[in-house]
Amino acid sequence: MRDHWQLYFADAPDCLTDPKRPQTILHVLDIEIGGGEFVTMAGPCSVETERQLLITAERVCQAGAQILRGGAFKPRSSPYSFQGLGVEGLRMLARTREATGMAIVTEVISESDVPLVAAYADILQIGCRNMENYALLEAAAHSGRPILLKRGMMATIGDLLRSAQCILSHGNPNVMLCERGIRSFETVTRNTLDAGAIVLLKQVCHLPILVDPSHASGRRELVSEFARVGIAAGADGMIVEVHPKPEQAWSDGEQSLTLEQFDAMMTELEPWISLARRRSSVRSALLEVGR
Ligand code: PEP
Ligand code: MN
Repeated sequence: MRDHWQLYFADAPDCLTDPKRPQTILHVLDIEIGGGEFVTMAGPCSVETERQLLITAERVCQAGAQILRGGAFKPRSSPYSFQGLGVEGLRMLARTREATGMAIVTEVISESDVPLVAAYADILQIGCRNMENYALLEAAAHSGRPILLKRGMMATIGDLLRSAQCILSHGNPNVMLCERGIRSFETVTRNTLDAGAIVLLKQVCHLPILVDPSHASGRRELVSEFARVGIAAGADGMIVEVHPKPEQAWSDGEQSLTLEQFDAMMTELEPWISLARRRSSVRSALLEVGR
């Protein structure tokens, strides 16, 4: 079966699993991504204030999130929207990391900012709008930091694999992919969650894959259900937007969960996460036997 997929992804061969290529496991502080435990990254879309960040971090950590997300450099669709606090936002993330011990994932949008962002972040996020910015991918690869690569909203699975391959070929094997919804004719949801892509990527690629139910749905009332779909599809983790007061958020408020909603979601998802954990250990046992 894998041979069959190779026809589609022929120019991204190193990215494809073969029975000898084990699952990539990323190590971030003491967290393993892709190792069978479901990993949750949560936090605000944008870093706004120290207080907002700390309150959110403490609550999402208590509820079971291991990694804090928050954008300091924001790639906004409109030039008139808030563009992020920049280096001040990075400093707030660093202080929150210090206070809570949580690892930090934050986006880098420009090649020239890579050394700066890499000095503060545990994981560099490449957003969907930059998935094919090869100069940025190369610079991010050279930083040596693990990279969270989001699927472009108009990118095929092959395109995503080629971008991942670009990072790998520049000497950085620590890449995780993220399905965050693609453009379709549907407008009720902000994007269309391509759950099938998660299923397929788990079969053809050894890199961990996350689901982003926030950007996929664009509506907070759908986030928990979209996350469940991602878990059922085989995702290794999720990245979710959470804000103490979503109605006052400086970006993506409509899709941000309140702290209480995040707590409730984590409780709702627990049985599904345990199921996924069992499935993943059966899967690795089978791979072991097949080797
Ligand atoms: C984000 O994570 O806030 C973001 C901008 O994501 P995406 O690149 O998927 O739109
Ligand atoms: Mn966002």
